[in-house]
Parts: sequence; C-alpha cells; structure tokens
Amino acid sequence: GKINIAIDGPAGAGKSTVARRVAEALSYVYVDTGAMYRAATWYLMKHKISPENVREVLQHVPKMVIELKPDPSGQKVICNGVDVTVEIRSLDVTGNVSRYASIAGLREHLTSGQRRMAERKGVVMDGRDIGTTVLPDAELKVFMTASVKERALRRFKELREAADITLEQLERDIAARDKLDEEREVSPLRRSEDAIMLDTTQMGIDEVVDTIVSYCKT
Ligand code: C5P
Repeated sequence: GKINIAIDGPAGAGKSTVARRVAEALSYVYVDTGAMYRAATWYLMKHKISPENVREVLQHVPKMVIELKPDPSGQKVICNGVDVTVEIRSLDVTGNVSRYASIAGLREHLTSGQRRMAERKGVVMDGRDIGTTVLPDAELKVFMTASVKERALRRFKELREAADITLEQLERDIAARDKLDEEREVSPLRRSEDAIMLDTTQMGIDEVVDTIVSYCKT
C-alpha cells in the first residue's frame, strides 16, 4: 500500500527538487509546505501586516486559502485565487518568511491543511517540521542536509541570471534563515529521532532520489 514520506532539512538542501522527483517516481502527490509559508508571507506583506503584529496576523489567518495545484511546469501556488507561484520566490518574501513562520496560530492553520492533504497516504511532503509535528506517523522520514557552502552554491547556480546577489550574501541569508528556523519556539527545524539522516553535500540529485526511493522498497 501507499505510505507517507516526510522530508525535512535546512534551506537550500535540495529538498523540493528531490521530493518532487521521488513523488514522480512513485506516482505520489508532492506537497511543498515551504510554498505554503511563502504564500502566507506574500499575502500578509501585501496587506502590510508586520510579523510583530501577531493579533492582526491571526485575524487574517482564517481568510487565507492556499492551494497547491499540479501543473506541467511543476506546481502552481494559489493564494485566495491569485497565482503567486513566481512572487513567493522573491528575495523579499524569502527574507521575511521565517519571521511569519514563527507565529503559532499561523502554523496551526497551515499544519491542519497539510494533514488533510496526507490523509489518504501516497504523499511526499517537504518542510521543516513534517517528521516532528505535521506527520509524526509518516512511514518514512528523511532529514536532508548539506554544508552551508554547498547549499549557497546550489541556490547561486539556480538564481544566477535571475537575481543580483553574491554567493557570500546567499550564504549569509541561508545561515540566518536556518538560525531563525532552528531557534523558534513552535515546531523548530530539527531531525525527528526516527528520521534517516542524509548528508547530500557530496551527492548528486539522481543519487539522492534513488536512495530515498530504495528506502521505500524495503
Ligand atoms: O522550504 P522553503 O525554503 O521554501 O521554506 C521557506 C520558509 O518557510 C522556511 O525558511 C521556514 O521559515 C518556513 N517553513 C516552515 N515550516 C515548514 C516549511 C517552511 O517554517 N514546514
């Protein structure tokens, strides 16, 4: 039968590429929870609500409808009917998402949606707290890491033409986001005790995908 697969790890470890490919290989559904936090951030920034203003954030939370739609080009992210697939990858959203993601009420809202998506199994879900909080009963949990240097380099290659940012700046941004994600009080980024640790610093994408798919067959 189908199982659920939780893939967690720090920013830029390649989780989303790998999770999407594992889902493809198994004909499972891919759920990018980072995209949901990014869409929530886009929405709150658009409404000029600061992450410090928790009360106002929580007033808006029930009004946020975030959908992930499969698409030939990957996956579309829709927030209250607006296609925000491109906007949520901006440096502005990326730089602020961890601050909004530390708000417990916002996390509860997104977590319950994520659990519903996984009810019928056959889901590959990537994020920071999937193995620990969202799907603690997932049959397979992987914690994917890579050195900060390697993660910054991967992001740099991805962005190169699109953004005016140096490798050093990316390295600093990634380290800062990791720190916020690891140090927040509610469901911080950490390895679930029963998660398989996968250091991908020296691994290619195909190798990582094959490794995870092989775990499913045993
Ligand atoms: O995975 P991605 O880098 O797109 O995630 C963006 C941000 O969303 C993370 O840095 C983190 O602050 C937040 N996030 C989270 N919990 C998740 C997924 C993402 O707090 N499950």
